[in-house]
Amino acid sequence: MHTGREFGKTRLPLWAASFVALACFAILGLSGWREWETRNADLRTAEVDVANLAHSLVQHADDTFELVDTILVGLVHRLEIDGTGPDTIAKLQAYLPTRKSSDRIRGIFIYDATGRWLATTERVDFSRLNNSDREYFQHHRDSTDPGTLIGSPVKSRAGGQWIITASRRINDPDGGFAGVALITIDVGYFVKFYERFDFGPNGSTSLLSNAGIMLARSRDESGAFVGRDLSNTPLFKGWDSRPAAAVYYFKSPLDGVQRLSYYQRSSHYPLMVLASKSQDDVLAPWRRAATMRMAFVLGLVLLIAVIGYYLVRQLSQRQRMAHALVAKEAHFRMLAEQSSDMVTRIGLDNRLLYASPSCARIIGWSAEQLLGTSAVAGIHAEDMGRVEQAIVALKNGEAEEARLVYRQRHREKGEIWAEAALHVTRDSGSGEVDGVVAVVRDMTEQKDLQDKLASLATTDGLTGLANRRTFDERLADEWARARRDGTQLSLLLIDVDHFKAFNDHYGHVAGDGCLRALGRILSAHARRPADLAARYGGEEFAILLPNTDANGCAGVGEEIREALHDLAMLHAQNPPSRLVTASLGAATGLPSQTTTDCSALVTAADRALYAAKDSGRDRLVMSGQVVPWPAKSA
Ligand code: GH3
Ligand code: MG
Ligand code: MG
Repeated sequence: MHTGREFGKTRLPLWAASFVALACFAILGLSGWREWETRNADLRTAEVDVANLAHSLVQHADDTFELVDTILVGLVHRLEIDGTGPDTIAKLQAYLPTRKSSDRIRGIFIYDATGRWLATTERVDFSRLNNSDREYFQHHRDSTDPGTLIGSPVKSRAGGQWIITASRRINDPDGGFAGVALITIDVGYFVKFYERFDFGPNGSTSLLSNAGIMLARSRDESGAFVGRDLSNTPLFKGWDSRPAAAVYYFKSPLDGVQRLSYYQRSSHYPLMVLASKSQDDVLAPWRRAATMRMAFVLGLVLLIAVIGYYLVRQLSQRQRMAHALVAKEAHFRMLAEQSSDMVTRIGLDNRLLYASPSCARIIGWSAEQLLGTSAVAGIHAEDMGRVEQAIVALKNGEAEEARLVYRQRHREKGEIWAEAALHVTRDSGSGEVDGVVAVVRDMTEQKDLQDKLASLATTDGLTGLANRRTFDERLADEWARARRDGTQLSLLLIDVDHFKAFNDHYGHVAGDGCLRALGRILSAHARRPADLAARYGGEEFAILLPNTDANGCAGVGEEIREALHDLAMLHAQNPPSRLVTASLGAATGLPSQTTTDCSALVTAADRALYAAKDSGRDRLVMSGQVVPWPAKSA
């Protein structure tokens, strides 16, 4: 039967296993979450870095183009006022190099309305050069927009390197197209400038036009990326809806590296700067540390899991064992409780630790009443010593088991005979004796029967005197004792006179009554503890009188004869008294002086008895008196 509690207990290993698993997952989950947070924090830091970088670089680009713009505005203003006459151009040609003071500016160019070179800072013969095919030229020719145009990078016709152009239209006095003023900036200038900043091994910075054309890119000395049209990339696709500056994650279409970047548009020019770092570079330190930390955490979790596994296994094993033990205990308890014998367990302090229900029947006390009481309570004082001795011997380890028969008080029935089988119990761990188990049964009836059988074996059924067998044994014992002690041993043999005739006359039942009466007289005259009255056979009796001389013996004999007379049982066939009489033969032996055989004493007494019969019955004859008798008959 399973109670709720027991049911819960059987699930304990499952709960423990779940707890261990939960702990493992919690540790893993928390560590993973923490690592993810660290990773994101690293990315945030990198985002701030690239944002700062983008801010600075876009400011630099703004400054550069503002410088260029200022020069262009001055040039165009002058040309529009002074015109493009040879004087003006000659002055300009001398003046231009002074404007190219900054290393940002590669060259300054003035073209007329047909694209012909009018003036330049380049030291080339430009008399036959014409730039009317250039995009910026055509733009200014076709558009009256007076603003500065930043064009796509082109390869310089003068030097062959990549350049960025900034140009402005020159109007004639009535607003017609009069030419173009152009300043070129070396792409290499930006590339070189960007080298001063650290973007990590795989980072990059790009200067782009708002149309998606690459103007300059860090580490691109060869100009491989310059002029690339990136307007189809995701960054430029949603261009109009994008904020002016933002963090932007992307996979570079140029080198395939996953980047985290920040783009910042210029507020003055159609430009933007995209500063980026490789996500792998940013996360590399975190990755190394996280791998180490996670390896440690994994090891820890593995350890917890392994220990947990062993603990859970132990737990379920113990539970199985406990279950088996409970079942076994119940089994043995049932055996003890169903037994008709009283099963008790006695502790080292002699108190009862357990008593089976049979105790109520066997000694009249319930198990509850007995628990904690002394195990030897109620044992007969005469048996107590023996029982206690046996228990002490068991507890001292002198014996493993003992069997005892003793008297025990029953609550209602008085005294009973109990038989106890005692067995030591030992602690299962240390093997030390920790108590005694007693199986007790009521054997009063057996004891009575036993006593009866014992008395049947030793006494005569009719008279209650000792029987012939007992007499023979006692005679031999007393003979040996008398010889040893040097004392005298006397024997009286008593035979009823004419008893056959009594039987014939009064019947057998009366004969038995007569024998019983004589038996009472004899046992009354065997006064000393060592004296023994016995039925020797038929109507013959014997009294053994140890440590008694011939005189003493004769005295006892005479008393018996007189007692029989006093009883005065009628015996019509026994003249002359016509009462029941008996003849007695007695012999006294000093064993050391006579033969070694005790039968000599019997023979002597027997002869004396015959002599008594012969000489007229109802008398006592001492063997000493008949010493000559055998000689006479011989
Ligand atoms: P005596 O004077 O010579 O002893 O003559 P007696 O008749 O007594 O001697 P005997 O040995 O011839 O007879 C013994 C008789 O005792 C024989 C038997 O019938 C009787 N007898 C022996 N045992 C018992 C007994 O247990 N009960 C009864 N009623 N009679 C017994
Ligand atoms: Mg006889
Ligand atoms: Mg007789």
